[in-house]
Amino acid sequence: MPSEFELIDRHFASVAAQAADVVLGLGDDCALVQPPASDELLANSTDTLVEGVHFLPDIAAEDLAWRLVSASVSDLAAMGARPLWFSLAITLPDGNDAWLAAFSRGLKAALKAYSITLIGGDTTSGATRVLTAHVQGAVKPEQALKRSGAQVGDLIFVSGTLGDSRAGLELLSHAVDSADYEFLTQRFLRPTARVELGRGLTQLASAAIDISDGLLADLSHILKASGVGALVHLEQLPLSDSLAALYSEEQSQEWAATGGEDFELCFTAPAGRRDEIQLLAKELGLELTCIGEIRSENGLQVLSQGEPWAVSGAKGFDHFGEEESL
Ligand code: ADP
Ligand code: MG
Repeated sequence: MPSEFELIDRHFASVAAQAADVVLGLGDDCALVQPPASDELLANSTDTLVEGVHFLPDIAAEDLAWRLVSASVSDLAAMGARPLWFSLAITLPDGNDAWLAAFSRGLKAALKAYSITLIGGDTTSGATRVLTAHVQGAVKPEQALKRSGAQVGDLIFVSGTLGDSRAGLELLSHAVDSADYEFLTQRFLRPTARVELGRGLTQLASAAIDISDGLLADLSHILKASGVGALVHLEQLPLSDSLAALYSEEQSQEWAATGGEDFELCFTAPAGRRDEIQLLAKELGLELTCIGEIRSENGLQVLSQGEPWAVSGAKGFDHFGEEESL
């Protein structure tokens, strides 16, 4: 069995790329990094994935690495920050070399995709696999996309398509040989953090959040932080062709509204910025769809064909909640 230090050397030291702002990377008691420009703030976020809670025991190691990196970088995207540094604390029941080699491959590729540098971490043994990522990025104070900036009359937008990841999770347990199956399971296993979109929205959006717990649950966080309400039209939620091909309209809309882990962005912007938002969508090759508007009345109202719509799972995932929707 390799020692902890051999494992770190073999599987993590090789992942750490050179970066001008990392003066001293892995291997010492601390990493030493060059702070960003003096007119920028450091954006910080920590995310944990626990086996059995956030991922199934048989997930491929490379997919797990991608999910961890994308989920944590997604928080930087939702803040409008540019990714800088990544730290990883990993707890494993054993030092399985083949598993770690695959994990490290996925980690390297995912970090490269987002131009974020591994600067350190911790490797420990324990009964259950637990992975904690800490990410840091940079953003100008006046450009940070906070949850608290939504104003009455603002339009509400989402990026990409919704509900795919939820369908992908469902499909993993019954393998089907089709392009739609492939698309949806990949949306669950290898989500994309919308970093360029977040950067592009810093001058346009009034508030933003990434969709990790489900659209309605995450939009509710914007409403609470901003002290406003909202009206959302269910039939305006963007659905992928694959989701529509494999599931009924009713099921697709429910998952688009409540399914978690699409890691798309939900944001608000003044109605006058609509054209600029569509221009940004074109530039990025990413759909940005208006799904409703911010109102002064408290709460979130969802209409389906003009009638109030409610679903039992609309609260989204809450680890300590009474009902878990996923
Ligand atoms: P210490 O005893 O000072 O905590 P460690 O022996 O835990 O140091 O780690 C040695 C070096 O390897 C440190 O620079 C640490 O940041 C890095 N490291 C340990 N585990 C990981 C990991 N999973 N990913 C990235 N870097 C790691
Ligand atoms: Mg340590």
